[in-house]
Amino acid sequence: MTVQRPKIVLHDHLDGGVRPETVIDLAAAAKVDLPTRDSSQLAAWFTITPGMPFEEAWQRFGVVIDVLQTAESLRRVAREAVEDLAADGVVYAELRFAPLSHLRGGLRPEQVIGAVAAGLEEGEAETGCIARMIVCGLRENEPEESLRAAHLAVASADSRVVGFDLAGNEFDFGADLHAEAFAIARQGGLGVTVHAGEMAGPESIASALNSALPRRVGHGLHLIDDCVVANGKIAELGPVAREIVQRQIMLEVCLTSNSCLGTPVASHPVRLFHDAGIAVSINPDDRAITTTTVAHEYSLWRNAHGFTNRDFRDINLRAVDAAFCEPDTKAKLRDLVAAGWG
Ligand SMILES: [Zn+2]
Repeated sequence: MTVQRPKIVLHDHLDGGVRPETVIDLAAAAKVDLPTRDSSQLAAWFTITPGMPFEEAWQRFGVVIDVLQTAESLRRVAREAVEDLAADGVVYAELRFAPLSHLRGGLRPEQVIGAVAAGLEEGEAETGCIARMIVCGLRENEPEESLRAAHLAVASADSRVVGFDLAGNEFDFGADLHAEAFAIARQGGLGVTVHAGEMAGPESIASALNSALPRRVGHGLHLIDDCVVANGKIAELGPVAREIVQRQIMLEVCLTSNSCLGTPVASHPVRLFHDAGIAVSINPDDRAITTTTVAHEYSLWRNAHGFTNRDFRDINLRAVDAAFCEPDTKAKLRDLVAAGWG
């Protein structure tokens, strides 16, 4: 058996990582129609492919959200997420989701948070992988909705919530629409991250930096469009990239997820970012919807971009610094990572 080295995961969607077998189980109980009841066929159907229209891609998440409308289902998938991450050596994970998308079965927002917190706690007790939660607002929803999510997140700090994120349709809805929600989250002591530069360009990242004042950015892939690249290196950082470096904002990189949306793994700028001093971390994004695992992401970084164990040690130590958990947990994680990567 290979020894699993200790890994930090900062960007993993609860609803994007549900085991296909679990979706099948839960769909039967929730009377939700699935395209197939065969778990390997369902796993294949889930996988987003380059060029897939938005509506079809969101349909995948829609099916999962449909089966996650009870406390039992949320608790189960939270526990299983921690089990699956721990099996790949993950020692600390921040799992994110939009709690207000889980109210259709009659749950109150605090009950949604409570159910996920209970599942994370069970998973943590079982595996030792420390699990925390990030509450997401959605760009396409009314700003009042993300504000409500931010207030919920702040009020749930005792229930494993450590951060606030904005996800959703980046093309049509600017992060600036949700500035008030970000302010509430920051004032409430939460860490702030925001999906930006995943689909849209540097202007979207700039808007996120200005309106969210985040400590991390989800993806940031298109930050490369703000840079001058020559001879396989970033020769010059543009203004947005310079700000990322100066403010020491970490990019939550998700190679497989970006490849599903059309950027082949080999063409991803992660190596250029890293070599230019931009902080990057290794993340799976949506394990089920993009068919990946944390271990697979590490193999891509190693094989496609030449990252070494030494790099992985440094990257994980920086990920501990950028994590949203409390300082004593960080101290423990730092020791684990330093010892585990040698
Ligand atoms: Zn994401």
